[in-house]
Amino acid sequence: MNAMKQVVVIGGGIVGISCALSLQADGHSVTVLEPGPVGEGASWASCGCIAVGEVVPLSQPGMLMKVPGWLLDPEAPLSMRPASVLGLLPWFARFTTNSLPSRMRAIAADLAGLTFAATEDFKAQITDIGCPELLIERPVIKLFDGDADRATMGAVFNLARALGCTIDEISGREAYEMEPAIARDFKHAAVLGDWSYVTDPRRLVEKLHRAFAYRGGQVLTTAGAGFERSGERITVVRGADGQLVEADEVVIAAGTQSRALAQQLGIRLHLEGVMGYSTGLKDPGVELKHTVFYPQGGFCITPYEGEVAVTGTVEFASLDAAPKWRRADVLVKRARRVLPTLRTDKAERRMGRRPFTPDTRPIIGRSSRIANVVFATGHGQLGLTLAATTGRLVADVVAERRPAIDIKAFEPDRFF
Ligand SMILES: Cc1cc2nc3c(=O)[nH]c(=O)nc-3n(C[C@H](O)[C@H](O)[C@H](O)COP(=O)(O)OP(=O)(O)OC[C@H]3O[C@@H](n4cnc5c(N)ncnc54)[C@H](O)[C@@H]3O)c2cc1C
Repeated sequence: MNAMKQVVVIGGGIVGISCALSLQADGHSVTVLEPGPVGEGASWASCGCIAVGEVVPLSQPGMLMKVPGWLLDPEAPLSMRPASVLGLLPWFARFTTNSLPSRMRAIAADLAGLTFAATEDFKAQITDIGCPELLIERPVIKLFDGDADRATMGAVFNLARALGCTIDEISGREAYEMEPAIARDFKHAAVLGDWSYVTDPRRLVEKLHRAFAYRGGQVLTTAGAGFERSGERITVVRGADGQLVEADEVVIAAGTQSRALAQQLGIRLHLEGVMGYSTGLKDPGVELKHTVFYPQGGFCITPYEGEVAVTGTVEFASLDAAPKWRRADVLVKRARRVLPTLRTDKAERRMGRRPFTPDTRPIIGRSSRIANVVFATGHGQLGLTLAATTGRLVADVVAERRPAIDIKAFEPDRFF
């Protein structure tokens, strides 16, 4: 039996609240600091996928050569804000070194080690809180206009398949038969068999918060602003409102803001916020059953509860950069290529910053610099997928159990 500890979790997004629930299940007394609104972290702007096969890192070969194009075309699916270039250079330099084939393979294998556990962990989590209906276990479809378009995905598919991911290549016609709302004239498609999607990421985070509070967990509506220390241990977390919360253990799970919190502790995390946009469309006038990706257009369309959402773009910008809503509007305009009868008049736009490390691996575990801090951040494009698994691993670390999955590759000190 493990000793019960007073654990403070900083950040109540999908990752923080998942850690909080797992720690609570181990018998700890857990306090979450979340300035709110609950459910509106990056996951609110996500595609909603439990993306088991999304294991190939973002740093795909030739990245550096593409940067001038990203700077010149602000509406391209991948772009970089010119004003942010200098600040992003150190992160980007590390990012590009991870495009070497051997590194790509190693990262993909590490990510697969996590994602292959994700569906079971996610299902266990939503069943535990009494909401199994939040997951739709239906594959995701990727659509391609032509041969060249599909060929760009060849290397990614091959690497994912080599690790055991299920990808069935079919014709556009077969995709249309699976999903009659899409246009008839796509030439190729792929069915990603391991994937599934959640019905509403905001409701998911809210439900997790509700279960945590119902079981006696405390959520303080304030940001974690600082720490009091005794030697190499944190003793107190200071809230932005002046509250002092005593802690035996601290979990830093504040998405992109984890970088600034780590900095206060003398720990350097290479973490940037890669912006993406999502537009929820009410009364869309189409019946969609699958999440559909259109890589050429840089977006995906998810049939959420009560809306379809058009989501995408990868925009490198500094953490304080304001959203460019025009980018969300461009995606909605392009979405008619996939869903020709889509109605777009009732729209709600969202922006999220994916907390990205240069090696696309999340940051899970302790730093050698502070004895009682555990990091749970840097999940990039996989935070929704990996939150339940990360929660389980963080609980193992706090309980000083051997984690169920080897987390060496995810340790925060790899950036020193
Ligand atoms: C366009 C887009 C599409 C995506 N698609 C997918 C997908 O299909 N599948 C998938 O798995 N992932 C997807 N993601 C990624 C996923 O959304 C993120 O990885 C995930 O939301 C990160 O969760 P988080 O809890 O770490 O961070 P966040 O969701 O950002 O939550 C961090 C929380 O910390 C709080 N906070 C910040 N600072 C402090 C502080 N000082 N003190 C206390 N609290 C603080 C914030 O208020 C916030 O609630 C997508 C993201 C985007 C943007």
